[in-house]
Amino acid sequence: MHNVLPGIFVFVFGAVLGSFLNVVRYRFPRHMGVAAGRSKCPRCKATIAWYDNVPMLSYALLRGRCRSCRWRIPPTYVVVEAVTGLSFLLVWLAFGWPQAAAYWVLASLLIACAGIDFDKGIIPDKLTIPGIILGVVFSMTVLRGDTVTASLLHSALGILVGGGSLLAVGLSYKLVRKVEGMGGGDIKLMAMVGAFLGFKLALLTIFVGSVVGGIVGLVVMHRTSQGMRASVPFGVFLSPAAIACMIWGNDLIAAYLSLLR
Ligand SMILES: [Zn+2]
Repeated sequence: MHNVLPGIFVFVFGAVLGSFLNVVRYRFPRHMGVAAGRSKCPRCKATIAWYDNVPMLSYALLRGRCRSCRWRIPPTYVVVEAVTGLSFLLVWLAFGWPQAAAYWVLASLLIACAGIDFDKGIIPDKLTIPGIILGVVFSMTVLRGDTVTASLLHSALGILVGGGSLLAVGLSYKLVRKVEGMGGGDIKLMAMVGAFLGFKLALLTIFVGSVVGGIVGLVVMHRTSQGMRASVPFGVFLSPAAIACMIWGNDLIAAYLSLLR
C-alpha cells in the first residue's frame, strides 16, 4: 500500500513527460525548436491554454477536438501520454531507484521514435545516436551489474547484435527482392536498445516486434488491399516491444530456460 501514492505520482509524471514527447514528436521532424514557445493547434494556430494541455484529461474533456476550431486531435497523441505514464510506472515498480531513471530515458527515446516513425516513417538519428551513447554510459554506471569492463562489453555486444541482426535482414532482403527492406533508422534504434539492454533482450525485442508487426501488417494489407506495397513502420512495433522486454524480458527468458531443463 505504501507504494500507491508514489506510484500515482510516477504515473502522472510519466504522462506529463508523454505530453512533452508529443511536442518532440511534432516539432522534431519539422525542424522546429523543441523549447520554442507554447503549443499551438496545428490547424488554427490558437495557443493551447494550460487547462487544455493536461495529459489525457483534457483530451477526454474536449472529446479529442481543438477548443477553437474543433480540429480532431489524432488519438495517437493521447496513446503516447497513456503509454508513457504506464511505462514509467511499470519500470519504477520493476527496478526502483536509480535504475528506473536510466530506463525512463530509454522508454522516452523509444516512444518519441515510435511517434515520429508512425507520423513520418522516419526515425531521427538525432534521437538514436545520443541514445546509443547514453546506453553505453548508463550500462557502465547506474545499470552496472558487473565490472566496468564486463558492462562495457555487454553494451557493445548489444549494439552489434541489435543493430547487426537488422542490418543482416535488410541486406538479405535487398539481395532477394531488390528493394530496401529495412531502414537505417530501425538499425540504429535497435543498436540503442542493445546498448541499454544487452544482446539477449535486443534479440527478444526483434522477435516480439516482428511477430506483432507481422500480424498487424497482415491485417493492414488485408484491409487496404494494397498488398505488399502497404508499408508498416517497423519502429512503431520495435519500440513498445523493447519497453516490454526491458520490463519482463529477463523473467521471460528465465522462465523459458527453466522450462527447457
Ligand atoms: Zn484549432
